[in-house]
Amino acid sequence: MAEDGRRDGDRIADPWGRRTPYGTGQTWPVRVDEQVGDGAGGPVAAEDQVERWVPSACVLCSNGCGLDIGVAGGRIVGVRGRAGDRVNHGRLGPKGLYGWQANSSPDRLTRPLVREHGELVETGWDQAMDRIVERSRRLLESKGGGAFGFYTSGQLFAEEYYTLAVIGKAGLGTPHMDGNTRLCTATAAQSLKESFGSDGQPASYTDVDHADTLFLVGHNVAATQTVLWSRMLDRRRGAGPPALVVADPRPTPTAREADLHLAVRGGTNLALLNAIQHELFANGWVDRDWVAAHTVGAEELERLVAGWPPERAAEVCGVDAGQIREAARILGSAERLLSTVLQGVYQSNQATAAACQVNNLNLLRGMIGRPGCGVLQMNGQPTAENTRECGADGDLPGFRNWHNPAHVDELAGLWNVDRMTIPHWAPPTHAMQIWRYAEQGSIKLLWISATNPAVTLPELARVRAILEAEEPFVVVQDAFLTETARLADVVLPAALWGEKTGTFTNADRTVHLSERAVDPPGEARADLDIFLDYARRMGFTDRDGRPLIGWDDPEGAFEAWKACSKGRPCDYSGLSYDRLRDAGGIQWPCTDDAPDGTERLYTDATFPTDPRECEDYGHDLATGAEQTPEEYRAKQPGGRAFLRAADHQPGPEEPGGDYPLLLTTGRTVYHFHTRTKTGRAPRLQEAAPEAWVELSADDAARLGVADGDQVRVESRRGAIRVPARITGIDPGTVFVPFHYADQAANELTLTAWDPVSKQPVFKTAAVRVAREG
Ligand code: SF4
Repeated sequence: MAEDGRRDGDRIADPWGRRTPYGTGQTWPVRVDEQVGDGAGGPVAAEDQVERWVPSACVLCSNGCGLDIGVAGGRIVGVRGRAGDRVNHGRLGPKGLYGWQANSSPDRLTRPLVREHGELVETGWDQAMDRIVERSRRLLESKGGGAFGFYTSGQLFAEEYYTLAVIGKAGLGTPHMDGNTRLCTATAAQSLKESFGSDGQPASYTDVDHADTLFLVGHNVAATQTVLWSRMLDRRRGAGPPALVVADPRPTPTAREADLHLAVRGGTNLALLNAIQHELFANGWVDRDWVAAHTVGAEELERLVAGWPPERAAEVCGVDAGQIREAARILGSAERLLSTVLQGVYQSNQATAAACQVNNLNLLRGMIGRPGCGVLQMNGQPTAENTRECGADGDLPGFRNWHNPAHVDELAGLWNVDRMTIPHWAPPTHAMQIWRYAEQGSIKLLWISATNPAVTLPELARVRAILEAEEPFVVVQDAFLTETARLADVVLPAALWGEKTGTFTNADRTVHLSERAVDPPGEARADLDIFLDYARRMGFTDRDGRPLIGWDDPEGAFEAWKACSKGRPCDYSGLSYDRLRDAGGIQWPCTDDAPDGTERLYTDATFPTDPRECEDYGHDLATGAEQTPEEYRAKQPGGRAFLRAADHQPGPEEPGGDYPLLLTTGRTVYHFHTRTKTGRAPRLQEAAPEAWVELSADDAARLGVADGDQVRVESRRGAIRVPARITGIDPGTVFVPFHYADQAANELTLTAWDPVSKQPVFKTAAVRVAREG
């Protein structure tokens, strides 16, 4: 219900809902969205009338909208946005309004499964866990911690990631921990480390309220974060609307709204961004005093981008030189610039280098740490931020630097273990390398939680072969028998959101507490309980023989994580479950000095680049070669940010010959990842039941394809059959959504990754398209 009493429209037909315009610096008006019952449009059935509302937040994208879960008869029967939540002011998008329906899907896993004579059969928890523990003990004794790989998710809660991180790093001592966050937010984290010294989102969603210019790079926010897009649209319809510049190869709803759409060719973001910076320098739009005081590297950057006049970039990136100049003029004359970045950069060629150039733009303009000024290096998944903070993605917990002995000692002291137990002799193993080690046989136990790599990883035929092989022994922890779970040796039934308690943190550092509203079905257990059970059965102890994991519930895990984060950039020490219950979402860092949280970072233009503090010593953006601590210190950053320079290089697979079209992959507004949940929500499934390929009218005519024709899309690695949609996409480029397991875009993608962030390059593969039949 809206605050004026009007019920807002159907969020399937209109994902962003009614406009509530507001002006510069004003508060975004409240509009409470609610969905109770089956969503079929009729009156709410008597058995679906809400008995109580339980506070939570949405876990279907990184926006992290605050909501209450409606419960009746021990079931989830609906959701409503929380009017007072700082993230969404009551709004919910289609996934948030309907995604909860998956919880009551009849095919939930309710008992553990183990593989017997090639078949998965039901068993009890003791039998399933004994099988895992017996294998683990044998491997730990004979091979050591390096025989274990953990591949997790952006779906678990902070308490679960932290517990898993302690198990992996201090219990088993394995460097092989990563998650599917490598596929979506690794570049966000890495670009923040490379530019500012540490992960941590500089800006806040409230900066949308103040900005006079929005620059969205590879960020189709209208589809990926519908509620944030509503906020931007409301600013655009209010007084003093911000200018909007969008760089995206596709004419997305976001791009169609823009004042200037830069239809950049896939894989060439860096050329475009270098040319924009060229224009900033050439036209005196750089805040030289601020740059001199607060950054390192301006001279090298200016020298490099001098070689990228708009005409040269236009030849590479396909954007008209005049449009590049116009973009630079808009950004160069902005007084409050908010830049955002997502998968169009992160999953493309030269991901980290390009993401760093967006950071550069705000640094060159001196526009960071002030209202309306900053960078949002977005996340894809709802709890991706927590994997990074807590160390379940390979980084050390608390944004600690694996290369800094003092940081390793801090953890060893906190966990009371020998420092040599904690893997720090080499960089953490990234996801693609974990799968390679599993393929080669050195990882012998692979534990996958809350993710479906048999659909999400590139080059799926290879991934299936790894999962099907005799080794590794594969444990899958999930709520459903996914394509991955079907290939496991042991499947552990997991509770979903709403069935367990914990916290998670969205893309603008807002921490929400999500309370258990209903019981999980059958014998399904919270992921935290599964990890705790494993730790107990394995008998992990600290140096004094006490249990390594000293907590046994979510709040205990949260308190342990708070202690780990204290004094680090992501400091949670001022938070508590009670405070989160009272206040709703609170942004970290939250400390005794900042008890209400911190709206934006770097307000004093001091960055965590001091060698004693930084999370990373940086890399060569072209090759990924690590800088040594000595090389880093020689730059004497002393709290200044890094302006990073990089030249454009062609992508790993350019279209041509038999494969003349460039494939880019992405999302639809109605689904999340492999539709494990959203495909089981009837309204969402009806809205987007199958994959498609988008083709330009020119390419369609040349191929003799009409709108709706079945076509075969084929790369050097595989093929899929999908209907064609003729859209305004650039000629030479085709788009396939990646959500659909039986028409998986990743049958087509290649195994290649960014040299710095190690994020796979999903958006630049060469394909051909042919009409079927
Ligand atoms: S914008 Fe994201 S977090 Fe908000 S309701 Fe939609 S899916 Fe959920």
